[in-house]
Amino acid sequence: MIPALMPTYNRADLAFERGEGAWLWTDDGRRFLDFGAGIATTSIGHAHPHLVSAIAEQAGKVMHTSNLYRVPQAERLAQRLADSSFADSVFFCNSGAEANEGMIKAVRKHYAETGRPDRFRIICFEGAFHGRTLATLSATGNAKYLAGFGPVVEGFDHVPFGNMNAVRDAIGPNTAAIMIEPIQGEGGVRPADLRFLQELRRTCDEFGLLLALDEVQTGMGRTGKLWAHQWAGIEPDVMSSAKGIGGGFPLGAILAKEAVAEHLKPGTHGTTYGGNPLACAAGNAVLDVILAPGFLDRVDGVARYLWRGLHDLAARHPAVIAGVQGAGLLLGLRLRDGVVNTEMQSAAAAEGLLTVAAGMNVLRVAPPLIVTEAECDEAIALLDRAARRVTPSDARVAAK
Ligand SMILES: *Cc1c(COP(=O)(O)O)cnc(C)c1O
Repeated sequence: MIPALMPTYNRADLAFERGEGAWLWTDDGRRFLDFGAGIATTSIGHAHPHLVSAIAEQAGKVMHTSNLYRVPQAERLAQRLADSSFADSVFFCNSGAEANEGMIKAVRKHYAETGRPDRFRIICFEGAFHGRTLATLSATGNAKYLAGFGPVVEGFDHVPFGNMNAVRDAIGPNTAAIMIEPIQGEGGVRPADLRFLQELRRTCDEFGLLLALDEVQTGMGRTGKLWAHQWAGIEPDVMSSAKGIGGGFPLGAILAKEAVAEHLKPGTHGTTYGGNPLACAAGNAVLDVILAPGFLDRVDGVARYLWRGLHDLAARHPAVIAGVQGAGLLLGLRLRDGVVNTEMQSAAAAEGLLTVAAGMNVLRVAPPLIVTEAECDEAIALLDRAARRVTPSDARVAAK
């Protein structure tokens, strides 16, 4: 018989009762070091006192009023996000897919309202992940995720990640935008070359296209800067954010320059929950922590420390780990062909470390941004033991 909770996930048999910082405890008292952070989402760790009190305080006043009224918490959060990004205006929603869906609509609306409604196609990349709604699935373009869900939404062209010639070849009279994750997260923690991102910006300017960044996973300090694209010294025209922005509370956002945002007039796009007082109180509390002086520098420092630790780990386990990739605290262990990432993930969990599998046989390592060097040392020690568990038996013999 089917479980009451629809079985869309292969869940690990673990249920967590409480957390603190980078740690989680199961209901039967086992302790886990959380280097998955709920898929790069619990950005400031579990039960952060500032976030907890902001949510509790707001919940005790008013949680939801709808967007029929002014929401001061949302006005403040939007202003702070605009002040700390390229954006002039921000739309709040509830998830990454919803932010990307809105971003796609904003791109199309921009051209429709500036006399070029034929420009609606968006160039996307192989290995991308943009969400599970019909349009974001089409932008994702992964045949496995699309199978069985009927006709794909028209207007998405896929080219190989990092291939500038393929991008330029794909540009046609109907092209409106290029949409990309600065680091493909689900696709295997694959960073775009910074020069590639700069080249995309130049190409968008040359052809009059919009650059749309999906920073759902890479944004909100994950790479040691507030936004990953800042490493490339470029600005997009529109960008999506979610995951870490609410620190675990569901919140998404579209950040846009005025030229894009100005066409989303009253009635053109909407949401009931999006940007409600409770969600924005959470968002403001997360931002208080991430924008505090020195916080992002500390993320950058601990990320470099973890990077070196993972490299040393890879050198100790050449039969298991082929390489380390990613940036900031969005890192991946690329595993050898003979080792399956989900097996390594299970082995790590058996040692007390939570990680997340990603595409291309990569094991994602994405701790909360408040992680310490000592916790990184502990994670590496647990990964070391996990790697020994999954070392292929022939390599074990060879190592003797
Ligand atoms: C997780 C993710 C999404 C989808 O976010 P949801 O909140 O699951 O809808 C979209 N884009 C990227 C890059 C993501 O990592």
